[in-house]
Amino acid sequence: MNVATTIAPDADAGDRATLRQDLAAAFRLCHRFGWSESVGNHFSAAVSADGRKFLLNRRWQHFATIRAGDLLLLDADDPVAMEGPDAPDPSAWAVHGALHRALPQARVILHCHSPYATALACLKDPTLLLIDNNTARFFGRVGYDLAFGGISDTAAEGAHLVEAMGENSVLVMGNHGVTVTGDTVADAFEDLYFFEKAAQTLILARSSGEELALLSDAVARNTAAGWRAYRGMAQRHFDYLKSTLDSEDPAWRD
Ligand SMILES: [Zn+2]
Repeated sequence: MNVATTIAPDADAGDRATLRQDLAAAFRLCHRFGWSESVGNHFSAAVSADGRKFLLNRRWQHFATIRAGDLLLLDADDPVAMEGPDAPDPSAWAVHGALHRALPQARVILHCHSPYATALACLKDPTLLLIDNNTARFFGRVGYDLAFGGISDTAAEGAHLVEAMGENSVLVMGNHGVTVTGDTVADAFEDLYFFEKAAQTLILARSSGEELALLSDAVARNTAAGWRAYRGMAQRHFDYLKSTLDSEDPAWRD
């Protein structure tokens, strides 16, 4: 069975084509920013209203080579997807299948091991301390899963991640990496971008050995509210980044 031909009724062809292109761009940009890892890791985007049908990258295709048409269209209720020649990475299936099934509002799910988010995740206390605009952007929407048990490739692990993500839009995975969700690819990618920057700033500030100037919760909450008024930045940023991909290899759109 070619799982890539599964029909999803909840997104029309135009929306699906746009989603495929945006997700393909996100893979290539992730690699360009230095956040990819060999041929592992995975991004997904729901195409059905209930989140159970979603796009996902093929097993072990390098992020820098992914085109819109390469993405698999999978059904979280159909385990046959794991038997086909294009079967996804078992850990991608466990993580993204479980999250999409349980959290239909998480339209896009990006998981990677970006350097600073991963360094933060490896601290005994990986709390994203509130010290600037970018850390405060995430006030009240970061979950933490500190029970690292090896590669996340079981249903139990998926359920565990669902619980840790809850209502949050970012999950710091202890001793592992980060998972970000969003309404659109642009929104999720922007949060991944800013989370990596926030983690970088925190790691650098902590590396000074000096005491941190922590923001109060009230200031951080106010800052996070301020960010919401700038939400349009995400699409503008992502559109610019996509435009830069064409000069390298326009095939990402195919
Ligand atoms: Zn991972």
